Amino acid sequence: MAGKLLIIGFGPGSFEHITKRAREALQESEVIIGYNTYVDLIAGLLSDQQIVRTGMTEEVSRAQEAVRQAKQGKKVAVISSGDAGVYGMAGLVYEVLMEQGWTQAGGVEVEVIPGISAVHSAGSLLGAPIMHDSCTISLSDHLTPWELIAKRVQAAAMADFVIALYNPRSGRRTRQIVETQRILLEYRSPQTPVGIVKSAYRDRQHVVVTTLADMLNHDIGMLTTIIIGNSATKLYDGLMITPRGYQRKYTLGAETQPLKPHQRLKAEAEPWALEQMEAPQEWKGSLTDDEDWEEWDEEAEIAGSDAEITSAAVQPPAGSLQLAMEALQLVTKGSQSAIPELGHTLTATESIFEFAVSPGIANKKLTAMQLCALGEIIGDRGDIEYSPHHQLIVRVKTDSPEQITTELKGQGLLLSPIGDVAQIKACDFCNLEKGEAIPYAEAIHNRIGNLEVPKELKIGFNGCGMACYGAVQQDIGIVYRKEKFDLFLGGKTVGRNAHSAQPVAEGIEPEELVDMVVRIVERYQTEGHPNERFHKFFKRVKEIEGYKHQEMVGFVIENAVCGD
Ligand code: SAH
Repeated sequence: MAGKLLIIGFGPGSFEHITKRAREALQESEVIIGYNTYVDLIAGLLSDQQIVRTGMTEEVSRAQEAVRQAKQGKKVAVISSGDAGVYGMAGLVYEVLMEQGWTQAGGVEVEVIPGISAVHSAGSLLGAPIMHDSCTISLSDHLTPWELIAKRVQAAAMADFVIALYNPRSGRRTRQIVETQRILLEYRSPQTPVGIVKSAYRDRQHVVVTTLADMLNHDIGMLTTIIIGNSATKLYDGLMITPRGYQRKYTLGAETQPLKPHQRLKAEAEPWALEQMEAPQEWKGSLTDDEDWEEWDEEAEIAGSDAEITSAAVQPPAGSLQLAMEALQLVTKGSQSAIPELGHTLTATESIFEFAVSPGIANKKLTAMQLCALGEIIGDRGDIEYSPHHQLIVRVKTDSPEQITTELKGQGLLLSPIGDVAQIKACDFCNLEKGEAIPYAEAIHNRIGNLEVPKELKIGFNGCGMACYGAVQQDIGIVYRKEKFDLFLGGKTVGRNAHSAQPVAEGIEPEELVDMVVRIVERYQTEGHPNERFHKFFKRVKEIEGYKHQEMVGFVIENAVCGD
């Protein structure tokens, strides 16, 4: 009978966290070889297997015994906690096999069964501390020179890895963790979040969230895994959370407005990306914006998205190499040797503040002073995009968005958040000469302008029946005529099958208008599905304010995906 080596990682220690294959493998084994404590942990899953218990330090003899018995034709399980390939038995067994000239084709069969390693068990109990680039370092210097371990701690600290420390301290090895903390403090803030997890998913589980400065004031032993956050890791409600990326992006007034996927992937939003650095010609253009966008959001209503409008002609910003180098320097804080030629060290996480600017609701004229102020504030730290919605979109690197807001408002500019918010798009009221309806446009803006909604919502507002600013082509259209208002709902603003909004009411009394529009928008806000455009919402709910949705008749035309 052919023998087999089953090298099994059984996870942190609780039965719920053992994989199905690991359980099966234990069942099909005839011999179980493992360190005493581990055998005890899985004893409840064993039946009549022969058990070979060994002490902690007898790893090599454990591996040799396993190979010997497998060669005799037995199915032998070698067990490790966590994953057998992480400071476990997998490597040792292969080392013994290699020593004997084993080959996959001719030698005894080997199966390595993966398990949940301590870094992941501990991470799950701490929140989401790993998240970004991370490494594991064992502080045990029994088999590895301390000098090398210290070098790795230093390199990982320097490169801003999230670090999981295995084997942090034992009865005899007590100095290593002290020395490790000292090295880490050379590169990371004393306030860096640190998680200490003892006996994850075992009876005596104990979880502590603390800081790099304070970590040694807690119980640390052989059953502990320590996770050191990177420079962006946050403490939140007793949890440790590492963001997915470094770049924070502010938008005005609303923390719930992350950039949309296609915006996030745009070149100017990622000045630190490799793609932005000076590259050989053949690198360029290998992945189009459209591919990026589709990868992010296959389900989205692609033809109706901004991607169509904004993805054209994205140019890497001037000085992008320098920006990338600055971002790189963030992670080399304190290490002057890494990029000495830059000569300065950034201390705060870089942030992009983005918002829309316009001269006002009805006013369409920017003064030279306002443009100068914009230019001065933005300088070479950002850019201004001319949007199709009567706004300039500003993206600027800053850590004081409030100051920018105050300065620009002081110049009489109107600042608005961008993204999925309600926006009033008014006409210029014939150069402000036919201005009777302006107070209504402003009242609507004051009540619901910038309100967060399921999808961006444009409310067109025109001051006469000419409707020359295209109010009826917006999600909601309002046209002032004969001292009353006409209302249009559900325009499809972009895409090949774009259509005007449906005329639902003529002659609405001025005193009714504002409340009615507010009710419509608030209903869309509460009942709309995430990402559902207003025209789809209208179609789905069939009726708004008593106005019935009607199918638009016309050509059936297949919508095109972005870029087609
Ligand atoms: N193969 C194992 C690691 C073995 S080295 C794995 O993949 O997880 C032993 C070290 O692992 C311990 O010193 C401790 O740092 C960590 N460890 C193992 N099990 C743990 C648990 N349940 N809780 C916390 N740390 C654990």
